[in-house]
Amino acid sequence: MLAKSSSNAPFAQSVLKWYDKFGRKHLPWQQDKTLYGVWLSEVMLQQTQVATVIPYFERFIKTFPNITTLANASQDEVLHLWSGLGYYARARNLHKAAQKVRDEFNGNFPTDFMHVWALPGVGRSTAGAILSSVLNQPYPILDGNVKRVLARYFAVEGWPGEKKVENHLWTLTEQVTPTDRVADFNQAMMDIGAMVCTRTKPKCELCPLNLECLAYQNHSWEKFPVKKPKKNMPEKDTYFLILSKNGKVCLEQRENSGLWGGLFCFPQFEDKASLLNFLAQEKVSYYQEWPAFRHTFSHFHLDIYPIYAEMNGGINIEQANLDWRKVVESPKEYQSNLSSAVKYWYDPQNPEQIGLAQPVKNLLIQFARNYYGKNGIL
Ligand code: SF4
Repeated sequence: MLAKSSSNAPFAQSVLKWYDKFGRKHLPWQQDKTLYGVWLSEVMLQQTQVATVIPYFERFIKTFPNITTLANASQDEVLHLWSGLGYYARARNLHKAAQKVRDEFNGNFPTDFMHVWALPGVGRSTAGAILSSVLNQPYPILDGNVKRVLARYFAVEGWPGEKKVENHLWTLTEQVTPTDRVADFNQAMMDIGAMVCTRTKPKCELCPLNLECLAYQNHSWEKFPVKKPKKNMPEKDTYFLILSKNGKVCLEQRENSGLWGGLFCFPQFEDKASLLNFLAQEKVSYYQEWPAFRHTFSHFHLDIYPIYAEMNGGINIEQANLDWRKVVESPKEYQSNLSSAVKYWYDPQNPEQIGLAQPVKNLLIQFARNYYGKNGIL
């Protein structure tokens, strides 16, 4: 569980020496470090690169300068700021964790490892990264970058997604992480993974670990970490109805769990016939097919076919005084039921602070450009 090495051990020494010269020390969350800021950055950095995270981090800190302001915000505000960063469960968990800290720890971010680990969305590596980075507590980390460096250095067999391989990597990271200068060491391992021991074309000649690295010695870095056994990614189709009325666009909110949970989306149809059928029933004769495009999730490809239609009255789906509709997510497929739905009419010229999935946001921008011209956008 805890780090076991010393900063004088050869592995740690090489890594720390490299860090002193080349490590990243000017990232926004490294300045005036707080547990709140580092936690926020660590959650954002799960699955996302530093360059993408920086502007999101800065906007979050500006809007929610401390954990209590984040806890007191609405989920829609949080999702709105998160829009475009992907993996929205992270944002929902972030919000839940902030509320837990507000309610159970008086708004003070916990400093005990088990308490941090128990927060929604915080795994063992993230808990270790937060406490080691801010308080120098001797916890090792094992994010994607560290996994790659260790898998290559020790030529670890097996796919790291398997529990026993992952456990082995945890043992290795415990062994090489020093109990002193742990903050610098962990940052250095992340930096080496991101900057030197990159996924493709690692810069082994510049690596502080190349003397002992088994993958380098055996010219076999391509074999490590062992890749996930191949499965073809399933492909699914969906039809988005971009229904407009007086310059506003019809959106509905997804259930909190599942794909794009809590975000606002266009009504969706499984196939073109049911979408056109709906339009015919509602006597909407004008529609336009927009170019289809692919959005790839971690576990499937979604081919999106947007169809734009304009309502000129006569249609009876606007029930403005009712609550926004929560769309029930069936495990099999998402399917809108427009005739019974309560819709939210989104006004691109007066946009509400709501969470939008990236493809929805892009299509809204396109709509606003078409409808209002260049400047009429969100
Ligand atoms: S020597 Fe090359 S493969 Fe080994 S850890 Fe360094 S960059 Fe990665």
